[in-house]
Amino acid sequence: MYFKRRVANRTRKCATQGTIIRVNVAGKQKGVNIFTFSISLTFTGMTTAREQLLLFITTPLYLIVIGLEIFLSKLRQQNTYTLKDTAQNIYFMLLNGGIDLLFRAVYIGFILTFFYNHRFVEGIKIPWLYWIILLLFEDFMYYWLHRVDHMVRFFWATHVTHHSSSQFNLTVGFRSSILEPLYRFVYFIPIALAGFQPIDIAFIYAITQTWGILVHTEKIKKLGLLEYIFVTPSHHRVHHGSNPKYLDKNLGMFLIIWDKLFGTFQPELSADEYQPIKYGITKPLEKEDPVTIVVHEWQNIGKDLHKKGLSFKQRWKYLFGLPGWSHDGSTQTSEDMRRMENEINNR
Ligand SMILES: [Zn+2]
Ligand SMILES: [Zn+2]
Repeated sequence: MYFKRRVANRTRKCATQGTIIRVNVAGKQKGVNIFTFSISLTFTGMTTAREQLLLFITTPLYLIVIGLEIFLSKLRQQNTYTLKDTAQNIYFMLLNGGIDLLFRAVYIGFILTFFYNHRFVEGIKIPWLYWIILLLFEDFMYYWLHRVDHMVRFFWATHVTHHSSSQFNLTVGFRSSILEPLYRFVYFIPIALAGFQPIDIAFIYAITQTWGILVHTEKIKKLGLLEYIFVTPSHHRVHHGSNPKYLDKNLGMFLIIWDKLFGTFQPELSADEYQPIKYGITKPLEKEDPVTIVVHEWQNIGKDLHKKGLSFKQRWKYLFGLPGWSHDGSTQTSEDMRRMENEINNR
């Protein structure tokens, strides 16, 4: 208790000064563990100076590129933006950002710090190698987070918000799965255990997330050699497509290599080769109010679980199985839809 109070008091004192602080307290509890607490906070909302600098750079960058995209869309008379959709995207960004800000002191300052303090190995001592390995590791773990979001209905119910727009523009990048900050850190635990500082993990995540936002555009076609390594706008357009061939593909945030390695890569095909991309979800929502967009898949799960005569296994699959799975074939998974499409094409 004394230990905890000491941390809290020192944190509060420094936070009110409004400067970046690093509290390092070494303690011994019940003679078992010696552990170090490293918490970096600012009174402005528990972000590090590096993250604030990143925000300082990216905020005007976002405004410029969004302005440019709107200008080009008007110029070419393309219907890239609608007021309602853009307002929704901003609303989801604020909700997600608010939850992340409230929770980050817990997942960075306590949960990830706990695992970092119980790390299996010492961190890499060579700075450039440390950051490169961290970038690869974080992006790899994010790939699996995103893959689970798409493969397990329980998580899809949260992630679907990001896919619910029928538009595709830079502001869709801000249309975040609002509850993701509450479980994202779980995927970062192995990184902390491998000796990477929690605040560094959060910083690299913020950088890759910036890239992940900027790929939400139709204005950039294909990027030549970059298409082999990085997630590009072309790759991410596929990710937002509800055409059967495109479902659950290109799940990477920064590097496309994970999709190529683990079998989820799909290049963007021209309308002649396949069909024009249809953005959004396979079954459009009946109502598009902000609450329905967030909770509709939870409501669907609730309805499915209340169906009569289901076995335990069937109920389990409705909750943790592939999105679209049904015991009576009334709804289809992505693979079902791909198979049906292939059957029609082969007739
Ligand atoms: Zn997704
Ligand atoms: Zn996206």
